[in-house]
Amino acid sequence: MKRKTGQDRSITANWRPATLAVRGGTARSEYGETSEALFLTSGYAYDCAGDAAARFAGEQAGMTYSRLQNPTVEMLEHRIALLEGADACRTMASGMAAMTAALLCQLQAGDHLVGGRAAFGSCRWLTDTLLPKFGIETTVVDARDPQAFVDASRPNTKVWFFETPANPTMDVVDLRAVCALARERGIVTVVDNAFATPALQRPMDYGADVVAYSATKMMDGQGRVLAGAVCGTEAFVNDVLLPFTRNTGPTLSAFNAWVVLKGLETLDLRIRRQSENALEVGRFLEGRVPRINFPGLPSHPQHALAMSQMAMAGPIFSFEVDGGRTQAHALLDALELVDISNNIGDSRSLMTHPSSTTHSGVAEEKRIEMGIDEGMIRINVGLEDPADVIADLDHALGVAGL
Ligand SMILES: *Cc1c(COP(=O)(O)O)cnc(C)c1O
Repeated sequence: MKRKTGQDRSITANWRPATLAVRGGTARSEYGETSEALFLTSGYAYDCAGDAAARFAGEQAGMTYSRLQNPTVEMLEHRIALLEGADACRTMASGMAAMTAALLCQLQAGDHLVGGRAAFGSCRWLTDTLLPKFGIETTVVDARDPQAFVDASRPNTKVWFFETPANPTMDVVDLRAVCALARERGIVTVVDNAFATPALQRPMDYGADVVAYSATKMMDGQGRVLAGAVCGTEAFVNDVLLPFTRNTGPTLSAFNAWVVLKGLETLDLRIRRQSENALEVGRFLEGRVPRINFPGLPSHPQHALAMSQMAMAGPIFSFEVDGGRTQAHALLDALELVDISNNIGDSRSLMTHPSSTTHSGVAEEKRIEMGIDEGMIRINVGLEDPADVIADLDHALGVAGL
């Protein structure tokens, strides 16, 4: 590795976010390649046995095995940490690997966690099913109310875990208020920031301790690979998270890391354009459908809060029809441009019916408690011309009787 300016914090400290997204973390090999190199290797060779011993003892810098380190993966970790304003970052094989590691690495039997009730389906499975199985008690609350976290906490509460905006109800959590309340009590906040990414919202600026990502979404942004990341202090990442991930192995592949590095180069452009497109589509749907859940619209009850912590509202929102699953499915089936797909953060416009897809694994009474109606539809607005997306929706709404 020759030129490592992208990893030199005395240099990157002066770079602005859009620059960091393109150059942060880059380290060049002796060939001087401009685009980051893809190191497809599981192992590393040493010049002598003494070097191998020194590296294993942590006395010599360098790689030992790709479950632990890989040059391409490290470049991505540096870049995400820089964008997040975090000391350190570790990437994972998927967003769920990141959420699981971020929680299990710091919790043990006898601990208690408070989680936001509106959440990605698998995140709810972690709080409702996995953690209790290992003796970690959990309580879910309406995360729109900061006091709800306090009221649900006990002497053994270690972590508050939530996402904002939340999937798919778009509940917004007051980051400043909740993180301050957690700090006062010595409770660790773990924020799933997949919807906003650091390009729109940096939870650590408001006091969050740990920020976790599905990098599958806006970071890759083109629907290609799965990836995840966990950001935190040096002490958290090295002393708490690393022992867990090094030995359990939810490692991100170098190839997927390279794809996400390429994705991050255009994150700022994509998320801004997709946020603008989503607002146009949202304005069209408002008034045409019975209910719309989009914090980007001034009519949303949490609009002011969302805009006080997000640069833009992002590409994702949900809306509801009165005819339940039948009408929601009829609407989806009439689409000609927008795909029926449960992914988000893609450059293509995608729509899904959460209660029969992403949240079908969540029991019906929990879906109701989370605010997921049978008539709810979630949309990810892509990079297409928004007029074409609106025309497609207009036609499909008509077919579905709206
Ligand atoms: C997609 C998603 C996840 C899970 O990420 P994967 O990369 O699919 O494992 C977690 N949280 C949120 C908010 C998500 O949107």
